[in-house]
Amino acid sequence: MKLVVLVKQVPNTTRVKLDPKTGNLIREGLESIVNPDDLHALEAALGIKEETGGTVTALSMGPPQAVDALTQAIGMGADKGILLCDRAFAGADTWATSLTLSRAIRKLGEVDLIICGHQAIDGDTAQIGPQVADWLGLAQATYVKEIEHLTPADPDKPGKPGEIIVKRRLENGVERLACQLPALVTVIKELNQPRYAHMERLITACTDKADILVWNAADIGVNTCDVGLEGSNTHVIKTFTPNFKRQKEILEGSRQEVVAELFDRLKKSDTTLSGKFQGRPS
Ligand SMILES: Cc1cc2nc3c(=O)[nH]c(=O)nc-3n(C[C@H](O)[C@H](O)[C@H](O)COP(=O)(O)OP(=O)(O)OC[C@H]3O[C@@H](n4cnc5c(N)ncnc54)[C@H](O)[C@@H]3O)c2cc1C
Repeated sequence: MKLVVLVKQVPNTTRVKLDPKTGNLIREGLESIVNPDDLHALEAALGIKEETGGTVTALSMGPPQAVDALTQAIGMGADKGILLCDRAFAGADTWATSLTLSRAIRKLGEVDLIICGHQAIDGDTAQIGPQVADWLGLAQATYVKEIEHLTPADPDKPGKPGEIIVKRRLENGVERLACQLPALVTVIKELNQPRYAHMERLITACTDKADILVWNAADIGVNTCDVGLEGSNTHVIKTFTPNFKRQKEILEGSRQEVVAELFDRLKKSDTTLSGKFQGRPS
């Protein structure tokens, strides 16, 4: 099977700090890591490769230092890494990021399964997986917590596609879903326990970058106006760290009195509520 794993390098923090003047992410002192969900995606792909054979390609779009994320992926067992790196890719929103990633996947030829993390801990949108599937016209399953069964396409039966059966974590239950291959799945951490990188593989990957290719916009055949900041449909007007000030106050009285008081205060503090509610709650 030809497997592709999307790997994003992210700052090692769930509490991103922004420069209050420029609104930019403060990266100084922040270690970079592989996005945690993507380690689970890699583990899933490596497990499938061990069972069915094939290749695992780790794909990342990012600055030159994102090569470290690919090195780690190769250390874990991926066969090769591809870094999409070009000044034209900078400032991409999720639309432009997913377009860039999908064009690179298209360049790889026929792919059976694309696995990516459900969500990145910095951007946090969880949009990339579904968008990549959409650009490529593939079936998709998100929030995958278990890969129950996978049948690769049989080369002796050309008309019969492969199939993946997964369990998806939903808010109040689990959904069992079958998708024809090729498909894309986004995975959550319940899926598995990622392995550690193999020391020897890691050292080889660090010293000899032969298994890591770097592709630019021309390599994947995209116009620079369709990617990066220029190709982004959304533009950040301002970013800032919310200033939370908690003021605790405990309302006294019977349940009815407390609810009525709370209701009045909410109405007064938010003008959008006034007029919507007539009278008081019973
Ligand atoms: C309006 C807007 C403007 C932005 N402007 C900028 C900007 O100026 N500069 C900037 O650096 N970022 C910018 N970003 C952030 C950037 O768009 C996102 O980091 C990127 O598109 C991925 O989205 P996400 O982090 O929410 O990923 P999610 O959708 O949460 O990630 C899900 C999965 O997709 C895969 N994935 C995500 N990103 C990548 C990647 N780059 N390579 C490989 N796999 C990936 C991973 O498997 C990941 O687990 C902007 C985002 C928005 C919404």
